[in-house]
Amino acid sequence: MSSPKVIILAIDGPAGAGKSTIAKRLASRLGFLYIDTGAMYRAVGLWALRTGTSLSDAHRLEQLASMARVELLEGGTRVKLNGEDISDLIRTQQMSDAASKVSAVPGVRRALVDKQREMGARESVVMEGRDIGTNVFPQAQVKIYLDASVEVRAARRLRDLEAKGQAVPLEQVEREIRDRDMRDSTRGEAPLRQAPDAEYLDTSGMPVEQVEEAILRIYRERTANGKE
Ligand code: C5P
Repeated sequence: MSSPKVIILAIDGPAGAGKSTIAKRLASRLGFLYIDTGAMYRAVGLWALRTGTSLSDAHRLEQLASMARVELLEGGTRVKLNGEDISDLIRTQQMSDAASKVSAVPGVRRALVDKQREMGARESVVMEGRDIGTNVFPQAQVKIYLDASVEVRAARRLRDLEAKGQAVPLEQVEREIRDRDMRDSTRGEAPLRQAPDAEYLDTSGMPVEQVEEAILRIYRERTANGKE
């Protein structure tokens, strides 16, 4: 269990809803640790592909997830797997797909959720993912469910990929997002869902500053002495 002073701000939602951008800004505003749980699933996906592990070999994938030493550094913006900086390697379409597949394996989730709970027990965090408010920290004081239309989310993802020099047709990005959302929200183990006590925000037409202010308002309302 978390100590009473530790605050968990949980942000869940589908791919491209703006979770990372907002979570980083909020963490820096509040002085909290930013934790990108998707990066942890991506790291396991990368390790599986590198070791030639089948993405349907649940037993071996669980072993990889338990052994993986994933470090989130520099305000959560750099990711290391077993000491190697993999930050750029995990931001590809192939890794999004691999992460989504390994994340459906119950043993992989157990191993990574344990690590996430340890991180959130030590200090206040802004943690983003798919199951933070529903499963990792159901007792989180502040829960946000970020959403946006699939067209807006695909356009955002395309911009991110282009900024990294990866040219992918928009239709392909949109298809990949739809497939991933479907897999993430229909899997048996901790599927993507809005927690009943999460605040729903559609960011489709909202500038990032406005989303940030809206969440800070909710944060202040939900924490007894929510000072920045
Ligand atoms: O957030 P990101 O797009 O990096 O996540 C990659 C994949 O990891 C997601 O599509 C999802 O399948 C999985 N994931 C998850 N639970 C989380 C975070 C990510 O299942 N808490």
